[in-house]
Formats: sequence, C-alpha cells, structure tokens
Amino acid sequence: MSRTHSLSRRSLLKRMVLGASLAPLAAVLARRAEAAPATLVSAGSPEGKAVQYTEDAKTARTAQAGSTCANCALYQGASGSTQGPCQIFPGKEVKAAGWCSAWAVQM
Ligand code: SF4
Repeated sequence: MSRTHSLSRRSLLKRMVLGASLAPLAAVLARRAEAAPATLVSAGSPEGKAVQYTEDAKTARTAQAGSTCANCALYQGASGSTQGPCQIFPGKEVKAAGWCSAWAVQM
C-alpha cells in the first residue's frame, strides 16, 4: 500500500468518525429548529407600522368589515389556525385575527 493511499484512507476514516460523532448534534439542532415557535410580527415594530398591522382587525379604523389575516390572500396559516406565516413578513407569523393595509382578497 502506498503512503498516499494510506493517508487518504486515514483522512477518510477521520472524516467518517467526525461525521458520525456530529450526526446526533445535527439531529438535535434540527428538532429544535422545527419546534421553535416563529416570531410574531409586532404592531409596534417598523415593519408592522409600515403597513398599519394590528393583532386585532376590529381595532383597525381603515379595515373593511370582516377582513382579517385569516381571509387574506397573503396569509399562509392553516385553516382554523390562530396564527400563521404571511407573505409580506418572511420568517414571521401574524395573528389570524389581525389585519394590515396590505390585506388582499382571496381569489
Ligand atoms: Fe394579515 Fe394579509 Fe396583512 Fe399579512 S398581508 S398581515 S395576512 S392582512
């Protein structure tokens, strides 16, 4: 067996051991990421203020009666959910009972 071949085999074995030892850690981190609740958009945040977001559509003076995040075309929460993702706030969630000035009718 040549020295080069031996070194690359040793290197491969080291990588396999390292990968095997890190696999449980990666699994734990992935589970935590899935379990972590998404951040809710705050009405007082700059992004919330920019579109007059409120967690309660009844408090929005300019909202059309009956319009809420739950029946907005941009809402991505499951039917019946109390909160869910919104297309204009990537990585964050909004209250289903909320509303903002970007509300769009569902087609
Ligand atoms: Fe709610 Fe629609 Fe505004 Fe998103 S775009 S915050 S779902 S009203």
